[in-house]
Amino acid sequence: MFEFIATPALYLSVALLGLVLGSFINVIIYRLPVMLEFDSTVDSKKPIDLIQPRSFCPSCRTQLSLFENIPLLSFIFLAGKCRHCSQTISIQYPIIELLSALIACIAIKQFGANIDGLFALVFLLSLLTLSVIDIHTMTLPDEITLSLLWLGIAFNLFTSFVSLEESVIGAMLGYTSLWMIFQLHRLITNREGMGYGDFKLFAMIGACLGWSLLLPTILIASISASVIGVTLLFMGKLKKESAIPFGPFLAIGASICLIWHNQINNYFFNY
Ligand SMILES: [Zn+2]
Repeated sequence: MFEFIATPALYLSVALLGLVLGSFINVIIYRLPVMLEFDSTVDSKKPIDLIQPRSFCPSCRTQLSLFENIPLLSFIFLAGKCRHCSQTISIQYPIIELLSALIACIAIKQFGANIDGLFALVFLLSLLTLSVIDIHTMTLPDEITLSLLWLGIAFNLFTSFVSLEESVIGAMLGYTSLWMIFQLHRLITNREGMGYGDFKLFAMIGACLGWSLLLPTILIASISASVIGVTLLFMGKLKKESAIPFGPFLAIGASICLIWHNQINNYFFNY
């Protein structure tokens, strides 16, 4: 069996891979919501998918050369500005690339360079992608949540991360628990506190991590949402009636639960 040795060279390669994946995540974050609108409305605009057309400046639509498309480095060389129209390039691009590199290193460190590490990487990067899309559009695309739900069940069928039983119960419990909280909340307050995307995201988390990590996930999500909500309210960046997306907080909770799953399961269930 291949023995995993954590050398600086390995981490450097993993971080570089993370930067490239982050660059692709930027493409998904920008294009997937546009593509999904194409599905529901007939539009005369040129269709785009995740591959075609090649990367372009969102502001002047000039196609980018290879040199303008290097993760992180292009942003630094171009000093954060488009070479053609001088429009500022969103800081989100390098942040997503750096976060992806960090996530890749954490996944390999916690799970090793094996199938578990790869699954952790895919799961964490999907959560990152969903969070940013949710912040921008207040939607969580089924294309990611439902794909990961099935992937999580399949992964747990063939590996021993959690049992198939825990995974399937996790998916069912994830969806129904949030759905019930949603209905109860609507009954009491006459307002909708979450969306159906949140139920599917929570089902995806249950399928990937097993039912036992759902409770810690929702606890961390609720606490972080309250802290950030109140902070934004105090800073005047949020109005009392305005909604903040819940997906990013579920993602934070699930990421923490995946990375420290042993400690959290120990603490909650004394396994
Ligand atoms: Zn431009």
